[in-house]
Amino acid sequence: MNFASTLLDWYDEHGRKHLPWQNPRSPYRVWISEIMLQQTQVDTVIPYFQRFIERFPDVHTLAQADIDAVLHLWTGLGYYARARNLHRCAQAIVDTHAGELPNDLEALKALPGIGPSTAAAICSLAFNKATAILDGNVKRVLTRLHAIEGWPGKPAVESALWQIAQEHMPKQRCSDYTQAIMDLGATLCTRAKPTCMHCPTQSMCKAFAQGEQTRYPEKKPKKTNPVKHCQMLVIRNTNDEVLLYQRPQTGIWGGLWSLPEIPVEDDPVDYAETTFGPVHKSNTTEHIKHVFSHYTLMIQPVEIWLHDKHTKIMENTGQLWYNPHFPQELGLAAPVKKLLHG
Ligand code: SF4
Repeated sequence: MNFASTLLDWYDEHGRKHLPWQNPRSPYRVWISEIMLQQTQVDTVIPYFQRFIERFPDVHTLAQADIDAVLHLWTGLGYYARARNLHRCAQAIVDTHAGELPNDLEALKALPGIGPSTAAAICSLAFNKATAILDGNVKRVLTRLHAIEGWPGKPAVESALWQIAQEHMPKQRCSDYTQAIMDLGATLCTRAKPTCMHCPTQSMCKAFAQGEQTRYPEKKPKKTNPVKHCQMLVIRNTNDEVLLYQRPQTGIWGGLWSLPEIPVEDDPVDYAETTFGPVHKSNTTEHIKHVFSHYTLMIQPVEIWLHDKHTKIMENTGQLWYNPHFPQELGLAAPVKKLLHG
């Protein structure tokens, strides 16, 4: 038996056949459910789907609805662009397809919010066409079944997967097959702990044979963020107060109070003497690593003790002397807080 017929036999016995969008499995209900199921678990979607269908039982009521009413029923489901596209799509179906979802892959893909996999799912589930889908569940099953290396988001891997998905698609019972492969991914071939002992296609599965099921699908390669370096100066006056300045409102630590920063190649004592007057002594302390989403900042703290009480800078806007022992209520940048308060 090939993969499809093995899977269909399993589906007949174990597949999910009582999901609300399966009874009846109309194109409209399949479409709404497919959009709701993007990035969202079945259990979460069910009550939203039921409320939505009760309020908008067909494409005409949805097309005529106020967008606020649509968004209201979507509240809590997230990814609100989906709801806005759904509404626009309903209007397009009424305007250009006489209120009927087209049963053609290309026509479906041309509608707002319907991507290649959703279009294929509608064609297959609602119109029983042999159009393979490639959602997260299917990608997981196929990468394991064929031990496919590489992150499925990579164009070459994705296109290989589309081809394999289409090759497995049977000529008959297309709709059941699509539901079956989604069910296998959702119930047995799960991400962290696949239940291979109950899997109908275990004997065909290369990942199982290798004993490396969870190696597939490969994760998105982590981008290595650049590392930047700077010196952060803890400039103290003779009152043991520390010089802070307020950062610009935009950019990192926007509007927070921070320490002066200079490039690593600059001499901190020179900088302090030129800017604030004679320096009594200086001392470097341990590096601090601060990770931003787009780069890592390696901070070399340098403590500098000035000779004087030094009140000059108090007149300047955006600078102040800060007393760590009796701290003013200020928003401090994270490494500054760490440096001054541990
Ligand atoms: Fe997934 Fe395991 Fe079945 Fe392979 S044997 S398809 S890893 S559940």
